[in-house]
Amino acid sequence: YFVSAEQFSEHAVVITGDDARHIGKVMRGKPGDKLIVSDGSSKEALVAIDSIEAGEVKATILEPLVMDREARLNVTVAQSLPKGDKMETVIQRCTEIGAVSFVPFLSERTIVQYDAKKEGKRLERWRKIAKEAAEQSHRNRIPTVEQPLSWKGLLSSFGDYDLVCYCYEKEDGKHLRDVLKPFVEQLAADAGANVLIVVGPEGGFSEKETAQADEAGAISVGLGKRILRAETAGMAALTCVLYESGEMG
Ligand code: SAM
Repeated sequence: YFVSAEQFSEHAVVITGDDARHIGKVMRGKPGDKLIVSDGSSKEALVAIDSIEAGEVKATILEPLVMDREARLNVTVAQSLPKGDKMETVIQRCTEIGAVSFVPFLSERTIVQYDAKKEGKRLERWRKIAKEAAEQSHRNRIPTVEQPLSWKGLLSSFGDYDLVCYCYEKEDGKHLRDVLKPFVEQLAADAGANVLIVVGPEGGFSEKETAQADEAGAISVGLGKRILRAETAGMAALTCVLYESGEMG
């Protein structure tokens, strides 16, 4: 379970909200039961429940845990908004694999509409999914989910990353592995290098967009000869990046 830093003191934690209800009603927790709690960044501890009352779980810290399950590379997945609830699948699976952030975006061939004013609930839901998937996979941090960006907005963020790869099935394009190898050797030795993986919509990127991405410093990478669904490509690319940098397998 994740608790905010204020709820995490030296010897005790207080769990509130949905998590407290989950412990009480779904897990049928009782005093003495042990849980792992994290503040979502650096602190994690094994705790024992003292009481469950009025939507609040109070627990005593038994031992701090120091297991760092985060990857050395910070990989962000930028995903052109897919149809239906597929963005949820992307967030859930890529959180398990180890992404640190998600940036949904709208590109020329994005099929779905997104109106930020009306769709705060959707963003909230995506953030909840990231939190639950982080808990399920025992991550030390909850990946962030950003407000969807326009294609232009995404392009202007490329400078924030050490490496930007956009997944594109170009016949003469580079293979992701060939891009990653020198990067991993040079840069990734420094913990905390920032990598952005950009995945197109169901209909792919337009030529104009790929030219703009090239100009903004991104590298087009192929993921093999088979065409993956929009919601599969990010998972595959993320896995390749973390595998190549020694974080998986
Ligand atoms: N018909 C589309 C096209 O020709 O661009 C296919 C788009 S694919 C279903 C959705 C997205 O997944 C693509 O925009 C790309 O970012 C990524 N993708 C899927 N398979 C890929 C592959 N083999 N190599 C690189 N990217 C891939």
